[in-house]
Amino acid sequence: MYSDSNIKRSWVEVNLRKLIENLDAYKAELNNKTQIMAVVKADAYGHGAQVISNTLANLRGLNLFAVSNIEEAIELRMSGITGEILILGYTPIVLLNEVEKYNLTQTLLSEEYAEMVYGSGINVKCQFAIDTGMNRIGLDSSNIDKCIKIIKKYSDLLYLNGVFTHLCVADEPKIQSCEFTRLQIQRFNTVVDKISDLNLKYIHYMNSAGGLFHSGGGIVRLGIVLYGLKPDYKNVLPKKIQPVLAWKTVIAMIKTVEEGNTVGYGRIYQTTKRTRIATLPTGYADGYRRELSNVGYVLIKGKRANIVGRICMDQMMVDVTDIEGVSVGDEVILIGEDSGEHITADDMARMIGTIGYEIVCGISKRVPRKYSD
Ligand SMILES: *Cc1c(COP(=O)(O)O)cnc(C)c1O
Repeated sequence: MYSDSNIKRSWVEVNLRKLIENLDAYKAELNNKTQIMAVVKADAYGHGAQVISNTLANLRGLNLFAVSNIEEAIELRMSGITGEILILGYTPIVLLNEVEKYNLTQTLLSEEYAEMVYGSGINVKCQFAIDTGMNRIGLDSSNIDKCIKIIKKYSDLLYLNGVFTHLCVADEPKIQSCEFTRLQIQRFNTVVDKISDLNLKYIHYMNSAGGLFHSGGGIVRLGIVLYGLKPDYKNVLPKKIQPVLAWKTVIAMIKTVEEGNTVGYGRIYQTTKRTRIATLPTGYADGYRRELSNVGYVLIKGKRANIVGRICMDQMMVDVTDIEGVSVGDEVILIGEDSGEHITADDMARMIGTIGYEIVCGISKRVPRKYSD
C-alpha cells in the first residue's frame, strides 16, 4: 500500500470543522434539553464512522451513537467510543455474547425476537422498537394493550433501557405527511405514557427531519443533516448547515476528438464539433453512479464539465472544450464546490432520481477518506 497522501487518484475529503458546525447549527434549532444520538451507520454515511464518532465525542462530548449492525458497533467500540452504542437492526442470536462483551445495546425487533434474546440466557442491554405506522420493525402500537403487556413482560426479564419508534414521512412537507407524522408521534406517546412506571432512560422518536420539523424534545437520532445533506431535496435546512464531504479526482489524459466521433462504451455520445475530452480515473467501481452517464457534470477550475458517454468501471470522460488551461494532473471536483460553482450529493441524487444518502453511502471502500479540521 502507498501511504503517501500526495498520491491521489480518487479521494474523499471530510471536513470535521463543518461536521461540528452542522451539529451546533442543528442543536440551535432545538430546545436546549434535546439530546443528540449520532447515527453513524454505514460507516457514518460513507464519511468514516471511527473518525466522525470520535470527533463528536471529543469535541462535543457526544455519548449516544446508533449503528445498523453488530460489526459496525464493535468497530466503534474498538475505536475508543465509550458511550452508548445502539444497534438499530437485526443481530443473529448467536452473536448476542458479542453484544454483551462490548457493552452494546440491541434493538428488540419483535415479540418473537425478544423471546429469542431471553431464550439465549444472555442478559444484554436492549430497547424495544415500536411500530407506529412504518411497518418495518417493532411492536404494533395499534394493539396497545398487547404492546404494553409485551414491553412490561420483557422489561422484567431483560435489561430494557429504552423504547423508540421511527418516523417515515417526517421529511415531507405535504399536509397529509405532516398529519401522518403527528399520528405516529401520538401513537408513540400513548405507549410511552402507559409505561412511565418503568422509568426507561432512552425514549426517542425523531430522525433528522423529525427534529427539524416535528420536535418534541427528548433525543434526536441525527443522521443525514449531521453530514450536511437533506432528508428530502425539497427541505430547507438551517443556513449554516453545509455538506461535510467533498469527492475529488484528477485529469488522467486530455485529447481532441474531431466532430462526428463517439465517446465510450455503447457509443451513446457523439461529438457535434471539435471537442476536448478529459479522461478521469474514477468510475462506478468507486461508487460514481453510472446513471450519470451523459447526464452529470464535474467541476474543473470552477467551471462545469459535462460527462460525455457512459461512466466506465474505473474511468469517465468529460467535455473540457470551454475550460481554458486544463492539464493532466489538474484537480477535478466530483462532489463539492469551487469558485461559487457547486455540486452536492443532493444535486447528483436529484439528477438520477435517488437521495443524497445513497450517493454518499455508495462511495466505495477503495476511495480513501482524508480528514481536515
Ligand atoms: C437511519 C436512521 C435514522 C437517521 O435518519 P436520518 O434521516 O439520516 O436522520 C434514525 N433512526 C433510525 C431507526 C434509522 O434507521
